[in-house]
Amino acid sequence: MRNTLLFFIAAILVALFSVGRPLYAEEEFTPLEPENWLPAASLPLAPHNHPMPSTLNDLVTLLPYSPVNNPLLPEQANTSPLLPKLKSQGRVKVLLGYSVPPGTATRMTWVPSQSFSGLDVNTPVLVVNGEQAGDTLCLTAAIHGDELNGIEMVRQVMYGLNPEALRGTVIGVPIVNLMAFGRSSRYLPDRRDLNRYFPGTPYGSLASRFAYAFFNDIVRHCDALIDLHTGSFHRTNVTQLRADLSHPKVAALTNDFGKIVALNTQGNPNSLRAATVAAGIPAVTVEAGEPLRLQKHVVREGVEALRTLLKKRDMIDHSVFWREPEPAFYQSSWVRTQTSGILFSQVKLGAKVTKGEILGTVTNPVTSERTTIRSPYSGIILGMALDQFVLPGFASYHIGLLTRSQSPTQPPIDGDGFED
Ligand SMILES: [Zn+2]
Repeated sequence: MRNTLLFFIAAILVALFSVGRPLYAEEEFTPLEPENWLPAASLPLAPHNHPMPSTLNDLVTLLPYSPVNNPLLPEQANTSPLLPKLKSQGRVKVLLGYSVPPGTATRMTWVPSQSFSGLDVNTPVLVVNGEQAGDTLCLTAAIHGDELNGIEMVRQVMYGLNPEALRGTVIGVPIVNLMAFGRSSRYLPDRRDLNRYFPGTPYGSLASRFAYAFFNDIVRHCDALIDLHTGSFHRTNVTQLRADLSHPKVAALTNDFGKIVALNTQGNPNSLRAATVAAGIPAVTVEAGEPLRLQKHVVREGVEALRTLLKKRDMIDHSVFWREPEPAFYQSSWVRTQTSGILFSQVKLGAKVTKGEILGTVTNPVTSERTTIRSPYSGIILGMALDQFVLPGFASYHIGLLTRSQSPTQPPIDGDGFED
């Protein structure tokens, strides 16, 4: 009897401290009150001439680098009494013309170094510079202006950080594409997809200039970048990573997310993710939920994944007993409709399906003819179209096939416009 009791106690202890621990417990973080964030205007100004980053690719190296010309900067350095004492081993983070002291959280405004006269593109940038030295992790959201879940993920992660306990720096840009966000649109006002123009050029289209300025002013200051997205065009996604696992630094970054679905893809070569990787900075995309909606449970999953990353990178504290399972790696394929009509799904997002299983139906609203869509694979539903009117060829179900981790093969290039 006593032995049985001891066995049960031991089993419970093992269960608590090894597998299946909650990803994130509220009390492990000290949320920072908004009033504790210093206004950027109270920070010392950075020296004027920023050195040219060493990781520039050939194209950009040939072009003149325009240092940040931030019209919101005060004329002279302001020695505010609010500034904390420089007592730690942390590094001063130079960004957008300001020097952010260690142990400081601040909000600043990015104004593209190219002129966009008449357009309100003063983009808020949140910076938490840790008391102790470490890498700079960047979080970007709403590059597509209709993708809202990532905006709230950035807010929760940034305001949950304690600069006195943080190792390294976290830069959060909750709404990269304000011009699109203001119109609840995926696209810039000229109908271009900003996420197809990185790293940009200073003399190209609006999208290309904007991308160039953002890439040089923000992205080149990052040691790793997480770009937050949702499904697009009335589709929804299981919370998942998109990562080019053929790059060892990207593979390492992916592993640091813990338990999450990871899809091995190159991404569009001019996406922020691919351009950042090409510049030598590891980057992944998080895809989570639907566009044009704020989904609490999806935001929670994303925030948990990002906090797991901060723990695994040793930027914030974690229990010595804390262990996180590895990501599950998938390859994927889209199932398209063959007819036009109204799509009604019979499967749920994230469901396991077997080959031949009915995924949904398409019903012609005029003739009432109905066709059935069956799964050509056994796998899980990583993403799917919401019920809607579809035309033949519409990508309706994104089916993931479990693979061995870190497949050595080159990942496929995403051919479809709705990726990332
Ligand atoms: Zn997107």
